[in-house]
Amino acid sequence: MNSNIVVAIDGYSSCGKSTLAKALAKKLHFIYIDSGSMYRAVTLYLQRQKVDISNEQLVSEALKNIHLNFHSRDYQTHITLNEEEVSDEIRNMAVSEMVSDVSAIKAVRREMVKQQQRMGRSKNIVMDGRDIGTTVFPNAQVKIFMTADPKIRAERRFKELNATEEKITLEEVFDNLAHRDFQDTTRKESPLIRAEDAIILDNTDLTEEEQLQFALENINPLLRNR
Ligand code: C5P
Repeated sequence: MNSNIVVAIDGYSSCGKSTLAKALAKKLHFIYIDSGSMYRAVTLYLQRQKVDISNEQLVSEALKNIHLNFHSRDYQTHITLNEEEVSDEIRNMAVSEMVSDVSAIKAVRREMVKQQQRMGRSKNIVMDGRDIGTTVFPNAQVKIFMTADPKIRAERRFKELNATEEKITLEEVFDNLAHRDFQDTTRKESPLIRAEDAIILDNTDLTEEEQLQFALENINPLLRNR
């Protein structure tokens, strides 16, 4: 029987999942895995190769040529797509606009989930995403479901994006988040939904330190009882 610990963090777009996941991983000395970056890297590849994503057969073929790898430095995720570091490029708006369509494709999910499960088989990990507590690790010892006011989420994301992208408005960011939330919660394949045993964390009015404390208060007893 495996004795490694999995902390699964799911929730809506841009509600601070990765900020909390990184902080927890650092505190607990676990490995942090950003599952969303994998769907983003697949999207980037399909865009570059101009693959028609309405053709699942073509997407399946393309998946065979996609090799993803994570390198962690200072708990920052560095993801490579066929050996090329794409950590920054996968955050651009072109990728954000298409990623929810790509992540709704069955073949894509099947392959990503397989790779994610492999990463969590023997190591202590914190993984964030949309289906981690429901599909990827339904037996995760700790599950957190994050949410926050959509306006606050858009403002936070806008500030982040503004540092790197020009000519983007708050409205565009808000619309993109709303669109992705809608797609992610209504898709057929493992939609975003709270696992019954997940702790809800609404961080609308919480600082990063407060949400870390909240998560640790819920995690520590579980870890002590092992
Ligand atoms: O987490 P992030 O916002 O970077 O994820 C980008 C997109 O990837 C999400 O909007 C969602 O469509 C998809 N995703 C997913 N399942 C996951 C993680 C991300 O479908 N486990």
